[in-house]
Amino acid sequence: MDIRKLGYSGQRRPKYPNNLISISQLPNYPISFLLLDIPKIMCYIVAMRCKICKNEFIPNKYRPQQQVCSRPECQRLRQIQNEKEWRARNPDYFHYLDQESAWKEKRKRYNRLWKATHQQELQAYQKARQKPRQEYMRDYMRRYRLAKNVNRNKS
Ligand SMILES: [Zn+2]
Repeated sequence: MDIRKLGYSGQRRPKYPNNLISISQLPNYPISFLLLDIPKIMCYIVAMRCKICKNEFIPNKYRPQQQVCSRPECQRLRQIQNEKEWRARNPDYFHYLDQESAWKEKRKRYNRLWKATHQQELQAYQKARQKPRQEYMRDYMRRYRLAKNVNRNKS
């Protein structure tokens, strides 16, 4: 039975661990104590056993699920372990540059394939766009030459 799931609130905890219950000791308490005195138990501190150094500790009141004690050595090890697990879960995360180039290669291959297999559509599109494109290019070159001449006259 997990006492912390019975509405246990960290704010109710007394300041000093006078009534410390360790989880390893829980089975030694009579079941009537555990079931009937729930409000009382909720005021108790439930000590946890550190996963790393195996010492008992009192979890932070904002994190009653804490499994590693607050000793800097244990916290450092916990951090390293978490990073290891995270890297195992996300093996490709630090290869994002390669991923991007791979994605570009994939797109290029796809586009080449599409062009090869849709020649008729491409030609129809080019034919339809030919006249507007010619007009656009004519205008563009006219503006370009004008700007060039203006610059030449300036200098
Ligand atoms: Zn520890």
